[in-house]
Amino acid sequence: MAKKKRTVRIAHELPRDRRIAIKKALEDHETETRSDWDRENEWKQIRFCRKIIKPGQLRTVEMPLLNVSLGDKWPISVTIIHGKRPGPVVTILGAIHGDELTGTSACTNLLSPKFTGPEGSLNPNTVAGTIRIVPVVNLPGYREKSRYFPDGRDLNRNFPGRSKGSTTSRVASQLWHNLIKSSDVIIDMHSAAKGRSNMPQIRADLSHPESNLLAKAFGIELILDSRPPKGSLRQKANANDIASITYEGGGADLLDQQAVGVAVHGCMNVLRKLKVIPGNPHRPKFRLNAGGSKWLRAGEGGLLDMFVKPGSIVERGDVLATISDPNSPGLLVDIVAPEDGLMICTATNPFVTAGTPVAHFLPVSKHIELIKTQIATDGTLIVSGSLGEPIWREDDEVEEVEVGGEWSVGGVDAEWNIETAADNDDDEDVGETSPQKSAV
Ligand SMILES: [Zn+2]
Repeated sequence: MAKKKRTVRIAHELPRDRRIAIKKALEDHETETRSDWDRENEWKQIRFCRKIIKPGQLRTVEMPLLNVSLGDKWPISVTIIHGKRPGPVVTILGAIHGDELTGTSACTNLLSPKFTGPEGSLNPNTVAGTIRIVPVVNLPGYREKSRYFPDGRDLNRNFPGRSKGSTTSRVASQLWHNLIKSSDVIIDMHSAAKGRSNMPQIRADLSHPESNLLAKAFGIELILDSRPPKGSLRQKANANDIASITYEGGGADLLDQQAVGVAVHGCMNVLRKLKVIPGNPHRPKFRLNAGGSKWLRAGEGGLLDMFVKPGSIVERGDVLATISDPNSPGLLVDIVAPEDGLMICTATNPFVTAGTPVAHFLPVSKHIELIKTQIATDGTLIVSGSLGEPIWREDDEVEEVEVGGEWSVGGVDAEWNIETAADNDDDEDVGETSPQKSAV
């Protein structure tokens, strides 16, 4: 007997203003008929940083972050896969924060012969459109294992930048004019900042229609509906009507191969959805569209022993962590789950004081049983792409689950930010405010 399909739609749980904004944006949005992507159109060679790339060619070009005659230009490596046929320009970025390596590793994977070789999906002879892959955007930060630029600024708060501004602002301007402005679609890949780790997730402004479609095309289970931080690449791209999403997975200074696998899987899904490469995009069994979350804090100081990790599915009352103090042997304080839910981020640094945020929690209440249908032996949610390719699925077979609430203090990571970075009040994946300050 055929199994009856279960549909979960709980739209009333999203905040009313977001529900209205998203619905209106999608209704008003008419899918653009991009005549320039028409397969019959003439498709020419392109020029990037004075280098010519012909249709059907893959070429790696050096792009300087600074236009200087003296000193380091910080030349970043941009690989351009210029397809044989017309199509969109898709830009895939890693390490805008120099210590966040998930995106860097995902880009390196995509550039391997497995994908770009004669039989690979990204072979330029079979591509329609142009794919630009940049494994490391913040080159000086990467060299120093730092989130920041050498002037202590956060590149992802300085877009679109100024050519006569600060060092970081000049770099943002250079990136904006040479790489971002000419993109149709941007996938910007990040990890959690130092001291914590994220489960794979997409962040997008779901009231921006093209970004909404892009977020869903990525094909994973968790989407956080969040308006982008001021000065972020995502904000400026959306303001210029460029579809843009942020992928988050793993933590700074870590190489979480499952998060990398999900990133590669998601990028390929987007390219399939846009028909840049052949094949059907994979879709998740369900999708959590989250409008809010809760941060859990340490009530006491000492050493934190976490029993859960990013992606752990927990029930109300489960002990998530204990805090002990070497100066008070034998005394333990538990941190328990306030509701049934999903740990979307957990601390990796064991040093805590009273008030330190230790976990980012997504209450999923009545949908816990649905989520548990995709649980791994270690108690975490199996995210599509982390364990090989999932089965193909029709779009209307995806169960949409809306998780209500609001982001405390107005932003996804603002709670963390208040504790760790007093002058950086709307960060997306916050770490230290400067290289001198410790995150926790
Ligand atoms: Zn980041």
